[in-house]
Amino acid sequence: MKTRYIFVTGGVVSSLGKGIFTASLAAVLESRRIKITIIKLDPYINVNSGTMSPMQHGEVFVTEDGAETDLDLGHYERFIRTKMTKNNNFTTGLIYSEVIKKERSGEYLGQTVQVIPHITDEIKRKILKGGIGYDLVLVEIGGTVGDIESLPFLEAIRQLSIDIGRQHTMFLHLTLVPYLDSTGEIKTKPTQHSIKSLLSIGIQPDVLVCRSKKTIPMREKLKITLICNIPKKAIISLKDVDSIYRIPILLHLQKLDDYICKRFVMDYPSADLSEWKKLLQNQSKRIGYVTVGMVGKYVNLPDSYKSVIEALKHGGFKNRVEVIIKMINSEKIEYSKDLNILKKLDAILIPGGFGERGIEGKILTVRYARENKVPYLGICLGMQVAFIEYARNVAKMHGANSEEFSSSCRYPVIISISERRSSVKDHSDDIQGARSYYRRLKYMRIGGQRCRLIKNSKVHSIYKKSIIFERHRHRYEVNNFFLERIEKAGLYISGLSEDKTSVEVIEDPHHPWFIACQFHPEFTSNPRDGHPLFSSFIQAAKNFKKDGNIRRSKIT
Ligand code: GLN
Repeated sequence: MKTRYIFVTGGVVSSLGKGIFTASLAAVLESRRIKITIIKLDPYINVNSGTMSPMQHGEVFVTEDGAETDLDLGHYERFIRTKMTKNNNFTTGLIYSEVIKKERSGEYLGQTVQVIPHITDEIKRKILKGGIGYDLVLVEIGGTVGDIESLPFLEAIRQLSIDIGRQHTMFLHLTLVPYLDSTGEIKTKPTQHSIKSLLSIGIQPDVLVCRSKKTIPMREKLKITLICNIPKKAIISLKDVDSIYRIPILLHLQKLDDYICKRFVMDYPSADLSEWKKLLQNQSKRIGYVTVGMVGKYVNLPDSYKSVIEALKHGGFKNRVEVIIKMINSEKIEYSKDLNILKKLDAILIPGGFGERGIEGKILTVRYARENKVPYLGICLGMQVAFIEYARNVAKMHGANSEEFSSSCRYPVIISISERRSSVKDHSDDIQGARSYYRRLKYMRIGGQRCRLIKNSKVHSIYKKSIIFERHRHRYEVNNFFLERIEKAGLYISGLSEDKTSVEVIEDPHHPWFIACQFHPEFTSNPRDGHPLFSSFIQAAKNFKKDGNIRRSKIT
């Protein structure tokens, strides 16, 4: 069957939740057993998201094949079963760099290289490549219609709809339909303008999805129908909802999947959203809540930790509790040394991160969790700080640190991956050998890798298997040179890389739930299956809360 394409654009304002909408629509279509994937096009100049601060653009999502991508790919994997790859996200920066590379190697045979056709051709080539082997591809165009930087992408999809055939492509436009409290009116004018600007570049939307506070009344739908050439049943109302996981059901109720299948003449079974319905039912039967403190430095933009936040919520679904997440700034703890804020928590999580800012606050937090038996989950940097804390306070290695934060510390217990690899052989008897003695290659370990869990460990009993496959994104890791000393002090190394050279999981056997991992389990959690580590962590929070009153009275 010929691959069908749906192009999703956004209008009026950004941050309408285009990624979540696209993922939700894909979930409904997937439930009709359509083989589906999603591609995200990002109009920024960065070649990928790897160099972007999470404060600007939210978290960097890592795919199994090791691509650093936009956070929307995280939404896609949480809503559909198809795994995202490096072919599912590309930026203007990547397109230009590839075109310039070709130009430098003379591939254009003397032609004048231009936005049209060379840049647009490269965009089209990448979209088609990403769609190979699928029945249906949703292509989400980042940004808002009217932005200068989106233009080459919009031109490319316009051309592509002619190349592939209009009957095999659809344009879907998502807009904001504001509700004016003062007059009690719904306003369609911004949507009309947005569609006009799409029309001016040759794109007539087939479906309009209206984000609004309330359901769009029929009168307004008719108005849009008249002015924008869109049939009434192709105007979908997407009102605010209590849970993003309700959106697939909302779209199906308005028969959007039927409309698409009919338009594409695709004969597939009707949608089966039972898994999503069950999820929402469980959510409504919640018994109480737990409070998890997330101690990091990007606290003002929760999108910086999007996958961790969602994974915690999934852990809540499995345990039938609401997870209230308290974002805590580690710098505040560092400067004030005031740990009172941690006393109300039922569990503590330190997520991944880069750079020195707030590190000592994180180390103080780990110590508090360890000594007061508060459930602790450390992820990537959260494992590295847990290791440093144990080295300093239990193994009595004063001045232990990571070379990422101090190049001249006494005990570099966390070192750059390339250094360790070169130091193992030649400097095993020399502390300095674990230092930045060799050229820093700044090797980044990225993507899905196998990890071996030690039998009888807590983490093994949680995953219930010996080999797991989790994603990584780090440049530093545990320095094996000091491992024996720290293990002797009591820390349990419960997971190793497959080649047994890198520490992957640590746990404190004297603590009811203290686990930290070098990988990022949040990238493989989804609402339907949850993730064993997060489910167990939330269960531990529940237990801690239950007997917390007794414990809390003893907390120092
Ligand atoms: N900054 C640390 C490293 O590079 C941790 C990275 C992370 O948490 N993703 O190893």
